[in-house]
Amino acid sequence: MKYEIVIGLEIHIQAKTKSKMFCRCDAKYFNAAPNSHVCPVCLGLPGALPVPNKKAIEQCIRLSLALGCNINMFSKFDRKNYFYPDLPKAYQISQYDLPFGYEGNVNIDLSGSREKQIRITRVHMEEDTGKSIHSETKTLLDFNKSGVPLVEVVTEPDFSDVKEVLSFAKRLKQIVKYIGVSDADMEKGQMRFELNMSLRKTGETSLPKYKVEVKNIGSISVLEKVITYEYNRQQEILEKGEIPVQETRGLRDLSGVTYSQRVKEEANDYRYFPEPDIPPIIYTEKEIQELRQTLGELPSEKKARYINDYGVDAALAETLTATKAKAEWFEKAIEGVEDKEVIVAVGKWFVGEVVALMKASKSKLSQLKIQPKQLVALVQLLKSSKISAPSAKQVVVAMFESGIDPETYIRENGLEMVNDESAIQAVVEKVVASNPKVVADMQKNPNAYKFLIGQAMKELQGKANPQQVDKLILARLTSGSN
Ligand code: ZN
Ligand code: MN
Repeated sequence: MKYEIVIGLEIHIQAKTKSKMFCRCDAKYFNAAPNSHVCPVCLGLPGALPVPNKKAIEQCIRLSLALGCNINMFSKFDRKNYFYPDLPKAYQISQYDLPFGYEGNVNIDLSGSREKQIRITRVHMEEDTGKSIHSETKTLLDFNKSGVPLVEVVTEPDFSDVKEVLSFAKRLKQIVKYIGVSDADMEKGQMRFELNMSLRKTGETSLPKYKVEVKNIGSISVLEKVITYEYNRQQEILEKGEIPVQETRGLRDLSGVTYSQRVKEEANDYRYFPEPDIPPIIYTEKEIQELRQTLGELPSEKKARYINDYGVDAALAETLTATKAKAEWFEKAIEGVEDKEVIVAVGKWFVGEVVALMKASKSKLSQLKIQPKQLVALVQLLKSSKISAPSAKQVVVAMFESGIDPETYIRENGLEMVNDESAIQAVVEKVVASNPKVVADMQKNPNAYKFLIGQAMKELQGKANPQQVDKLILARLTSGSN
């Protein structure tokens, strides 16, 4: 590849609060009747005064802490001046030089369990704008979204391919949901991406002379398409010996195709100045410490603990900790279990069988009929050879469907493993006797032997230990008494 991607991201996340950022209007605007959640403050009427939402600021600081940021103990709000019909004040209350969080970092997973550190430039708090709805002849304005709290995360231009961007996007969404800063429901616009992207010749280390910004990317899959589209577009321009225009580009649909919107403003075009209606925000070390304690175990910490304490591998640990709900279900199951082999097996059965059944039936963890401890009981029955692995799969389906105890189901359906050697021996004799051709072929075709194991297991309805069957067949065939 001749060109290498340089990407930085800006992510707007809607903070989960009851009321808006600077007024008492209900912040839940999704599907609400247009302009039903408005007041003089969020309509930007002259003389209305903003009062900051403490809960929203705490969410911004909590996310800053979770992203490893330093906190500005003395912070303030600033006015970012620009006019747009859905911004009637003609300025957005945001933060400029003293954001709540700065200089953090997040580790993302790359293939082959490699990690890469992405630097976080800043995490600041601001208000959302209203929404313009364009029809053919009119533009309508809905101010329900105006003044909804947004936490904005800005990264350094540390991404050099699309996989890194996607891995980071997923990681950030996961962290935000874990600590409860936002539901990050992208379909409801609760998490939006902005891409700053340019290309440089592979091997170059300085930043390119231009960058293209793409705004309002509402899903991770569109983000991926935009990067591919922009790579091709910018490469074509560079190959002609030209430099792409530094500009803001937009999207018309979900195809990833971008179009030029406007030549990019510089920060000083916004004429930032301190918001005169809100005093500076001052926090003490103790208050920050208290907020830190509300974070709980972060996904990366959980994953590391699973690997170190339970001996699960990195991939399984990643899947088990993907959501907090999944991790909690697993932890409830293995509570009090000492045997690491059982713990790992419970993890595997949980993600391999239970979660797969859940996905297939589109059900949620909270609706699961199978209880965490029942899965442990099943794994223990399997470990002590009370049932075979194929039977266990059948049992787990039944447990999933009805919540029945594994012991009860096994008893009622006669799935106990045949541990009686003479019973297995009898089946071995039968299979050998009824497959003389296969036995005769053994010299030419050693695989024929596996066929016999399969036949015997079938005869035993899968209720025997395959290793034991294997051993008995081998003994029978090498004894020479055909
Ligand atoms: Zn309001
Ligand atoms: Mn912003």
